[in-house]
Amino acid sequence: MRARTDRVVLNADWDTRAYSERDMDAERCPGGLKRLSDMYAQILAEVGEDTQREGLVKTPERAAQAMQFMTQGYRQSVPELLGDAVYEEDADGIVIVRDVEFYSLCEHHLLPFFGKCHVGYLPDKRIIGLSKIPRLVDMFARRLQVQERLTQQIANALQDAIAPLGVAVVMEAAHMCMMVRGVEKQHSSTLSSCVLGAFRRDPATRKEFFDLVQPARSALV
Ligand code: ZN
Repeated sequence: MRARTDRVVLNADWDTRAYSERDMDAERCPGGLKRLSDMYAQILAEVGEDTQREGLVKTPERAAQAMQFMTQGYRQSVPELLGDAVYEEDADGIVIVRDVEFYSLCEHHLLPFFGKCHVGYLPDKRIIGLSKIPRLVDMFARRLQVQERLTQQIANALQDAIAPLGVAVVMEAAHMCMMVRGVEKQHSSTLSSCVLGAFRRDPATRKEFFDLVQPARSALV
């Protein structure tokens, strides 16, 4: 087992929406904004609405833009996102970016689930630009997802990108599809985790990670 003395814990207070607005590009959406708008107009008509009434005139287009925004992760890739932000560095100790806010859409109901994500890794001669971790979370979150797969995809992408000694990801989320149905479930949250490499093999390393993210785990909005 490696002896480690230093550790890095960073709170991620980035507003993850700021750069995502910039990334939104209607032209790159297959099918296009117009077709998606027309489909939302059909949905409005189908639920019995008057699509011409004042409040709804621009709703199909706004809904289409919102859907494109929430699924923009399909039009991003890990290499494009990481660019050259991988650095050779003899860092030794767990790096954790915690409290990364995320918003995703459940693939079963197309309803949002959202919460906080904590990402840790144990470097092996390579580190990643810290701001890239929330972006990685966002890229996978902005697709249709189930929380379990989202957690694994983030861990696997980080593992593939910098081949660290281990990766650990914990996500805590509230699911609208649970919250809007049934009075008992508004305050429940769902926890998922994925541990790879040293975090999986070595109970002490795993415990260190979970101890470090523990204080933040109840900080779900
Ligand atoms: Zn759902």
